[in-house]
Amino acid sequence: MNFGYRGKWAWIDLSKRKVRIEPADPGLCRDYVGGRGLQARLLWEHLNKIYPLKDPLSPENRIIIGNAAANDSPIPTAGRGSCSFIGTMTRSPEPVSWVPGHRPVYGMITHSSAGGLFHNMLKRSGIDHLIIDGRADRPVRIQVIEGDVQIVEAEESLFQTVEGRKIVRKASEITDYLSRKFKGSSTVCAGPAGWNLVDFACLTADYHRNFGRGGAGAIFGSKNLVAITAYGKEGLFYYDPENFKKINQELDSLVKASVEDPNQTASFRPTTGTTWWLDRAFNGRYLGVKGGYLPWHNFDEGYFDPDDFSRASTDAFLEIAGKHNVCNKCRHIFCTRTAKVDEGPYAGKGVRPEFETIALWINCCILDREAIFHMNYLCNELGVDTMTFGSVMASAMELSEKGFLEKYGSALKFGDASEMIKTLKAIAYQTNDLGKLLGKYTDRLIAEVVANFGPEAIDDIVFCSTTSYGGLGYAGINPKAFPGMFTAYGTSNRGRGDHTYAWTIQAEEGGLKQARDLASYVAEGQAGKALVDSLGLCDFFTADIASEPFLSLYQALTGIEYTPESLKECGKRIYSLERRLNNLQGRNRIYDAFIPPKLRIPLSSGAHKGEAVNEDFYNTILDAYYEIQGWTRHGIVP
Ligand code: SF4
Repeated sequence: MNFGYRGKWAWIDLSKRKVRIEPADPGLCRDYVGGRGLQARLLWEHLNKIYPLKDPLSPENRIIIGNAAANDSPIPTAGRGSCSFIGTMTRSPEPVSWVPGHRPVYGMITHSSAGGLFHNMLKRSGIDHLIIDGRADRPVRIQVIEGDVQIVEAEESLFQTVEGRKIVRKASEITDYLSRKFKGSSTVCAGPAGWNLVDFACLTADYHRNFGRGGAGAIFGSKNLVAITAYGKEGLFYYDPENFKKINQELDSLVKASVEDPNQTASFRPTTGTTWWLDRAFNGRYLGVKGGYLPWHNFDEGYFDPDDFSRASTDAFLEIAGKHNVCNKCRHIFCTRTAKVDEGPYAGKGVRPEFETIALWINCCILDREAIFHMNYLCNELGVDTMTFGSVMASAMELSEKGFLEKYGSALKFGDASEMIKTLKAIAYQTNDLGKLLGKYTDRLIAEVVANFGPEAIDDIVFCSTTSYGGLGYAGINPKAFPGMFTAYGTSNRGRGDHTYAWTIQAEEGGLKQARDLASYVAEGQAGKALVDSLGLCDFFTADIASEPFLSLYQALTGIEYTPESLKECGKRIYSLERRLNNLQGRNRIYDAFIPPKLRIPLSSGAHKGEAVNEDFYNTILDAYYEIQGWTRHGIVP
């Protein structure tokens, strides 16, 4: 009997068109906890035989989609699923002169977490993880219907012809088609960008939930895989159903109480969702201290004209927000809402964009709320990760204004939403030279632009590109004034710029300043987040997962007994294993220590005027960080 888990993994070889369903390994489910941790282990077993994987778009890349023990249980927020692979964006395979001592990196392990229904439906269909290898010789899709996993030919209806090329339709059209075919099912699919191997293409689940970062859509495209549809009705088995029910009620009350407490950040989520960070980062509203770190003009600044900001503030997005539209099994926190624009060129219905998306488009000086809403809708349809797209576009706007993209016919400029939308479509459909250039990982892009202007232009070109040297793209907090956040960005296992593995802003605003304290805070955050992802929970889950009630609840669900210490040990194990895998892909201290030149230039206004990333201090933090992690001073896991 499997408790919590289904206990079945499907091994899918697209090259041989074979599916093998095998029992899960209970030891791995215990030691690596679930979703993200288990997937890291299964990726490591594969990569350890063939490393380095030099081309993430080759058939040798493995992509795993699945769930955790808590998924589909009534634990609040237990609807977050996992997807892991070697990312396409985080690579720098050729030598580059602008990084001292450059060492090639071939793509980092990327774990993406998505909400919605898909992962819970996959579990209802009887499978915990789909482990997908190889490349199909013709376009296929996978269906998991009540325990039966099949690779089938992708129907012609899933494709369209664009400028003479056959590519997949928009995500909603694919999902509509498969939902009609399998009533009550749930689908995750690549969109046109993934099909066209755009390095920051995402996967879209349930219309607007995404495995966003790192290029999961491109991995689907590289495997000739259009979509996965799941349907099933099986409920969970509980190790101790009575006790589970009792403890879950108590835990549910705790989560509810945190949402009702106006001093807790959770209290803002049901109304403003993640967008409350817009005001928090800009002017310190919502429990903030000073603000002044909302990225502006390609990370040059963290503050700008407050009247301009008011057009794209927390309140501005509240005005177009509609009803809650939340992940399956979410309770109380309810961060997502629908949104609607009634008139004008961007009229339509969709969902309210998230903070990171809006922040990174404000970084392109886009303040037109309706245009941001519409672009968010388009990204979901075309399968483009909104965050990396924002970073790439901010760089492209600066390159374009400085004359480096003339050859590509670029008319991009800061603040011009309509040109940005045109470019988004050109990237996704790969219809012009500019779209083809910007859809590539950054070091390939830089090499191509430098070839047009000669080596003397390298410094100016690199200055515009914050995603250089295999960067994923910085998130929506300008890190110039926050060395802890810069360390979190710099050491994240899924690549430079990722914000989800550690989050230091509150602590730094609260006075955390010493190098060792910052290093320790980041390392602890990373291990904790590895656990949240591995448990299938949301970042916004408010209860302490290492507390006695939660551990008892987990035991009542699965029969697995953790102590606070043994669970934390699992978090560290997962984080170090991911890092070890990245070491195999070429990552060491040189990658972590790279500071995009732009981030060394001090902010010129706002609460943090005069502050910038300090190389010496950052290196002191890195020394402490590696020591705390038990890695070598070169960032290698022994
Ligand atoms: S809080 Fe938001 S992201 Fe988290 S589970 Fe609920 S709706 Fe999904």
